[in-house]
Amino acid sequence: MSKIETYQVPVLEDNYVYLLHDAEIGVTAVVDPAVVEPVLDAADFKGWKITHILNTHHHGDHTGGNIEIKKRTDCTIVGSRNDKSRIPGIDIEVGDGDTYFLGNAKAQIFDVSGHTQGHIAYWFEESHSLFCGDTIFAMGCGRLIEGSPAQMWEALSKLTALPDETLIYCGHEYTEANGNFALTVEPENTDLLARMKQVRSMRRNGIPTVPSTMAVERTTNPFLRPDSVELQKTIGLIGAEAVEVFAETRARKDRH
Ligand code: ZN
Ligand code: FE
Repeated sequence: MSKIETYQVPVLEDNYVYLLHDAEIGVTAVVDPAVVEPVLDAADFKGWKITHILNTHHHGDHTGGNIEIKKRTDCTIVGSRNDKSRIPGIDIEVGDGDTYFLGNAKAQIFDVSGHTQGHIAYWFEESHSLFCGDTIFAMGCGRLIEGSPAQMWEALSKLTALPDETLIYCGHEYTEANGNFALTVEPENTDLLARMKQVRSMRRNGIPTVPSTMAVERTTNPFLRPDSVELQKTIGLIGAEAVEVFAETRARKDRH
């Protein structure tokens, strides 16, 4: 098994595309190519030849470059079996519990439906890297466009079972806005206060706040913290089930 090198490409307003490179075998995957030219330019800059596309979900800001990049590089497109009809140019279908090898680098696939149906995440254990699209964001989670709170809670629960050191490579730079909301439900969370100070200064200087780690998300992401007494108190659900606390937190974020 081998480790992947990751190169982050900011595109559009706030999307992140990732290039994953396995030097041993010489393969390079693009995770969620929103666009074409900036992705091809980034691969050229690194001297990497694109061989694969890995999609997390069907939204245009994650698949918009699929067809043209495939045309230009003859790459193989990997996507969700449960959403194959909406993944442009899909060649290889994967689903929950599958392992997929990018060169020698092994990825475990999770179905993490909730933002969309058939949304998947790729976990490269050796590299401690999780590519989760629009499920977990730094201090946030994806909007429930196609799924229920219970479904998203199940998805988040699968991902939070991963180790503390897991690097969370999500699809968007939404961190500062997410953190501003988080502070409304956990105003006295000292980890959150400290993180937001850091995040604001990073954003002022144009520095990406992604990836974060699972350890950091556990202490500061309200959507992963239904056990927080402060959160339960703020939203008026002391002692409620985790899924209820999650659902109410998500509903409040939608209105924020
Ligand atoms: Zn999306
Ligand atoms: Fe998105």
